[in-house]
Amino acid sequence: MVMGVPAKAPAKISQPCAACRMLRRRCGSDCLLAPYFPPKEADNFVVVHKVFGASNVMKMLQMVEESKREDCVKSIVYEASARLRDPVYGISGAIFHLQKQVQELELQLESMRTQFLESQERKNQLLRILMDFQCQLPISPIDDAMFDQIDFFLDDGTIPVLGYDPKEFPLHCDWIL
Ligand SMILES: [Zn+2]
Repeated sequence: MVMGVPAKAPAKISQPCAACRMLRRRCGSDCLLAPYFPPKEADNFVVVHKVFGASNVMKMLQMVEESKREDCVKSIVYEASARLRDPVYGISGAIFHLQKQVQELELQLESMRTQFLESQERKNQLLRILMDFQCQLPISPIDDAMFDQIDFFLDDGTIPVLGYDPKEFPLHCDWIL
């Protein structure tokens, strides 16, 4: 290296995408799979290649608009993973399982709704009984003026007390509540 001449920056080597690396082919800037299978996510391509084959994945991607290809790849990866987990039912197994869960939750919801309506009806019945009882009372609720006119008798029935005096009022006289 000559003094005073800056060292030449090493040429940036772009990594091939996960698909091209696995297929051992050159990954150009026009690689159809590169945006969806970056080098760090090699597992996704391994799965879809195993189930569908690389050429079929490319055909499927070419059939959809570019704006929808990312979702398409997610769907293909999901389906391929499900097929490997469950070779018989694949993604259908997951759908059946979720449908069963939905049915069970709907039954639980219906049961809870019925219980809620029954509780509400019981509450309404109690309120109606309470209101009927209040209507049958001979006098209106006691107000301060009436309170002063009422003679109070203690439990021994002998001493009338006007006004409240904690010293004279017995603790066991709980009927005032
Ligand atoms: Zn590539």
